[in-house]
Amino acid sequence: MSAEIIDGRKVASSIKEAIKSEIGDFPHSPELAIIMVGNDYASDIYVRNKQKAAAEVGIVSQFHHLDEDISQAELLNIIEKLNNDDEVNGIIVQLPLPEHLDTHRIIDSISPLKDVDGFHPLNTGKLQNNEKPYFIAATPLGIMDLLKKVCPDLSGKNAVIIGASLIVGRPLATLLLNQDCTVSVTHSKTEDISEYTKKADIIVAACGVANLVKSEWIKEGAILIDVGINRLENGKICGDIDFNDVFEKAKAITPVPGGVGPMTIAMLLKNTVEAYKLQHKII
Ligand code: NAD
Repeated sequence: MSAEIIDGRKVASSIKEAIKSEIGDFPHSPELAIIMVGNDYASDIYVRNKQKAAAEVGIVSQFHHLDEDISQAELLNIIEKLNNDDEVNGIIVQLPLPEHLDTHRIIDSISPLKDVDGFHPLNTGKLQNNEKPYFIAATPLGIMDLLKKVCPDLSGKNAVIIGASLIVGRPLATLLLNQDCTVSVTHSKTEDISEYTKKADIIVAACGVANLVKSEWIKEGAILIDVGINRLENGKICGDIDFNDVFEKAKAITPVPGGVGPMTIAMLLKNTVEAYKLQHKII
């Protein structure tokens, strides 16, 4: 047996096509404000990819590239202006922020109705309560979409997540639990992660450790979602799952690149369209 490769690029591309056609019917373009503080190399690439993808589907993006040493008060002031600007439908703040800024305070200041990253506590709280949030974080949302393609009924499945971050592991655990999966969240302090993964129907690796998950870690027929983006010394990008090693044993796997990454961007665009519809009361 060899694994089905879950083609995130293809799924993301059809989502983007649908978004483009939906936007074509709107009286004006949805608008996304992207705030970036300082000059982080990776953030710069992510932001440029988001802007490019937004333009492709007809979303206008306004880029606020702010000085590394901007004060918290100044940043909060900019966010407040964007919250009150009727032209702006979605607001994202590229993370990480420089250390002198309080990330929680900044995220909390974004209007929950414009929080297209789904990081605001009102949105994460609603998700925890199994209540419909205005927005769900794009990466877990994209993962759920890919999972549903290969496993339409998640109920009762044993899911193991490696990584407990606020942007991937934790919201994903809640989404899976809300679909009646049995969920284990493992992390850097978990003693023997393979004890969990060996019993898993679904493994989502989101820890940023190159090729951590090996074939001995998985059971025959497991579904594997690889969120990790790691740059090797030879310059190549790889995930947290050793793709070649697990390929014969898994039922399905997302490649890196071309799996979860494109879905994250597609879901951000989808959230921006949802924000536009929410603010224009389009059901
Ligand atoms: P993070 O640093 O915020 O969290 C990492 C998590 O992994 C933590 O819970 C930590 O305890 C755990 N961890 C670290 N080392 C571990 C180990 N050896 N064994 C088990 N768990 C370990 O990271 P993040 O922002 O969630 O990102 C994780 C990875 O996913 C990174 O490679 C990042 O680039 C990637 N990522 C990809 C996308 C995408 O769209 N494809 C989106 C977000 C993050």
